Amino acid sequence: MKRIYLDHAATTPAHPEVVKAMLPYFTGAFGNPSSIYSYGQETKVAVEKARAKVAEFIGAKSDEVIFTGGGTEADNFALKGVALANERKGNHLITTSIEHHAVLETCKFLEKQGGFKITYLPVDGYGLVDPQEVKKAITNKTILVSVMHANNEIGTIQPIEEISKYVKEAGILFHTDAVQSVGHIPVNVDELGVDLLSISAHKLYGPKGVGALYIRKGTRIFPFMHGGEQERGRRAGTENVPGIVGLSKAIELARQEMDEEAKWLVCLRDRLIQGLLENIDHVHVNGHPFWRLPNNVNVSVDFVEGESMLLNLDLENICASTGSACSSSSLEPSHVLRALGLPPEQAHGSLRFTLGRENTADEIDLVIEVLSRIVTRLRAMSPLLKIRG
Ligand SMILES: *Cc1c(COP(=O)(O)O)cnc(C)c1O
Repeated sequence: MKRIYLDHAATTPAHPEVVKAMLPYFTGAFGNPSSIYSYGQETKVAVEKARAKVAEFIGAKSDEVIFTGGGTEADNFALKGVALANERKGNHLITTSIEHHAVLETCKFLEKQGGFKITYLPVDGYGLVDPQEVKKAITNKTILVSVMHANNEIGTIQPIEEISKYVKEAGILFHTDAVQSVGHIPVNVDELGVDLLSISAHKLYGPKGVGALYIRKGTRIFPFMHGGEQERGRRAGTENVPGIVGLSKAIELARQEMDEEAKWLVCLRDRLIQGLLENIDHVHVNGHPFWRLPNNVNVSVDFVEGESMLLNLDLENICASTGSACSSSSLEPSHVLRALGLPPEQAHGSLRFTLGRENTADEIDLVIEVLSRIVTRLRAMSPLLKIRG
């Protein structure tokens, strides 16, 4: 039986064109970009071309893009780099309670080891951050605000432009984790009004282990890795040339296909949501009905455990998720769903489907049918249901 992959927020398959673009840089064009002979120059040119392409896609200048080892590193770099470089100005950072662990755990580290104070803003029932709350949280010690563009679990898209107005008014640096949005919905650093923005290649049909951090010219930030002079001294280490070329190819493909793809995914997404609501009783959609990523479906199914649904779906070759892949080894309910105010049992009964360019309407219909069957079976055995009548 064919596998149905509905976990594109966790990772995407590399596009064949991406793989093709990367291959020459493993063998023939393997030179070190820092070497001065022509072998090295060839790869240096490839890296700089890739930088220009990534920069152009988000409305930035080439020298404002630094390649990293992925989204997690970009987030770490932004937060630690800015916090430590601006410590004299203040020790307060503002973020939200629904960020990816790459931001949340970095904040915890800065609190514990760096003596920084962090405000974790709440969200409303749809997962939206209120720009007024950001404004209220700003003090004369605040040096950085970090609010994600689109959430990886519930797909909610934040009002970054509005938040930016308040942050800029106060003369504070603004970072956004745009790992889930770049390549999927329009992202422009000037329109969003951000100073730092994180990108990861494997969330947009590129390779794993490579990403980028946009850093607006003039931003005070410390280097993330110390060593050689690569990336203008901001991120030492020999460049991941094939990965960087792969990221830029993925971005080039996204530029061509993103708009059409988003329209198609919205159709599939709404078909899945509609189908689940019509075929299964006591299903709730988590996240925002409109400010939502084109490919995200997150539902809570009453009286069943998310993990049980997931394992049963897996037996039928359907890949979904209960939250973020990073926390799937723990039995704690998702911090994002808890932040929405969901009671623990509803948070435990949640499922995330994130669609991608290779999914079809037939697959969606099959998933609706299979999940209805699974839920009926699980509910028949559910102690939760018996207690509640
Ligand atoms: C996946 C993800 C990350 C981490 O990116 P990696 O490249 O996997 O390190 C960070 N933030 C968000 C919102 C993500 O979805």
